[in-house]
Amino acid sequence: MDYLKIINPMDYKVALYIRLSKEDEKPGESESVSNQRSILTRYAKEQNLAIVGEYIDDGFSGTTFDRPEFKKMIQDIENKKINMVITKDLSRLGRDYIKVGEYTEKYFPEHRVRYISILDGVDTGIDSSNNDITPFKSVFNDFYAKDISKKIKSVKNNKQDLGLFIGGKAPYGYKLSNIPNKIEIDENVKPIVERIFKEIKSGKSCRAVAIDLTLDGIPTPSQYAKSQGYKISKISKHWADSRIRDIVTNEVYIGNMVQGRMKKINYKSKKCVRIPKENWKVVEHTHKAIIDKETFIKAQQMLETRKQTRVKTHDYLLKGLVYCHECGKKMGCSPKGLAEGVVYYFRCSTYTSYARLKLCTSHSIRMDFVENIVISKIKDICNSYFDKTNIEYIAKQKLSESKKNNTYSKELKNTNLLLNKIKLEIDNIYEDKLRGVLSQDDFERIYNRKKEEKESLIKKINKLKNIMKSNNIDESQILNKIIKKYSNNNIINRALLIDLIDRIEIDCNKKIYIYFKFKSLNNN
Ligand SMILES: [Zn+2]
Repeated sequence: MDYLKIINPMDYKVALYIRLSKEDEKPGESESVSNQRSILTRYAKEQNLAIVGEYIDDGFSGTTFDRPEFKKMIQDIENKKINMVITKDLSRLGRDYIKVGEYTEKYFPEHRVRYISILDGVDTGIDSSNNDITPFKSVFNDFYAKDISKKIKSVKNNKQDLGLFIGGKAPYGYKLSNIPNKIEIDENVKPIVERIFKEIKSGKSCRAVAIDLTLDGIPTPSQYAKSQGYKISKISKHWADSRIRDIVTNEVYIGNMVQGRMKKINYKSKKCVRIPKENWKVVEHTHKAIIDKETFIKAQQMLETRKQTRVKTHDYLLKGLVYCHECGKKMGCSPKGLAEGVVYYFRCSTYTSYARLKLCTSHSIRMDFVENIVISKIKDICNSYFDKTNIEYIAKQKLSESKKNNTYSKELKNTNLLLNKIKLEIDNIYEDKLRGVLSQDDFERIYNRKKEEKESLIKKINKLKNIMKSNNIDESQILNKIIKKYSNNNIINRALLIDLIDRIEIDCNKKIYIYFKFKSLNNN
């Protein structure tokens, strides 16, 4: 790489910049701090450069520039301690192309700092066509971070359209083939898949199948994947009925590739959302089937009929609030007795789902019994808390404050929307510039205007947030308001319970624990 030869090394005071974030820590990719450092120091040595400082941000994402060591480096540039910055590649500098561009195209040149990105061959110190690659590289880095790069996305989409498997781990029952983007049957667990379909087809419920598999000691898909060397964050110890349902409804088992069932919300979030079925990418006959089509269809029908006969649970006062003290799972409510004399009982749902596994005990307790205890407790609290003189004053004050805050929060929402719009526009004009649609002059003019707008919006948002913070009312005032609501009609209803109660737990001796949302109530 002779274009990176430094002609006059004595002129430079060199900073090595190293960044490592969680997202970079992938097996096989050597982004480790020591690896980056050895690349940088080797290069500096080869070029006879004097290293003045090493700046390491370990554990910081490239999407933000708010990193302590990076800031320190900028400070040292301002203090003229440094006039050369070297990174392993552009993404070490950052993964936000607007910001990366601001540094490589503007800030560094303006401060007479030469910037070198070794692996990309970028060197701002020489007039080389190589540097034209910089914006594209940083765009790529940003795309990488966003994971919504049109390019990458379309490659991904193309692959999915062709029925090529693009995941890292094959669906249960299959394994990755030696041929790229192909899967093949995993003979180890193929019998399990066959068994699941057979049992569902025979009329068993997903739950019953799940329990039987667990009792038979069959490793769950996550346990199995772990035994195959995959990194699994959450390992389930027993088969869940939802897992059985997922398997039985997955066309992958009849030889069709089904992809695009989940989508990341955005590149800053790891959260996934389910995609509606009609938008899934399904390609037929891409690999060997485990299940014949007839069995598959029959199994779907069995699932459907089960769905229709499932009883709807009715609404009740404490719905969603009652938990098992032992295992932490929600307690369900089920009837006992004949139509007229029916009595409802709470039962631990771990117990009812997996009774045969003995993971918990029933904790069976009459619903009306729990309701009465909770109601009388709430009444006590309301009555003892109720202090008329104090409450009316606070209630009035609170009302006017909440009205004020309402206007502010609306304004905040609108301003946030505007900000997002501006950010998008900036992204767009930058892409236009890269594609050559927009000249450099036009780009700078529009960009600067948008940036000003963006900054003033950010200022406004911070101001609004501060105002709202100072208006915020403390816990006791909120509590007073809730209890005031009760005192108006003297009725304990579900809304009041949800306002006050965080959760109710019932232990195996039928002891009832009520946890409130307000610290002051939990001491009672
Ligand atoms: Zn339990």
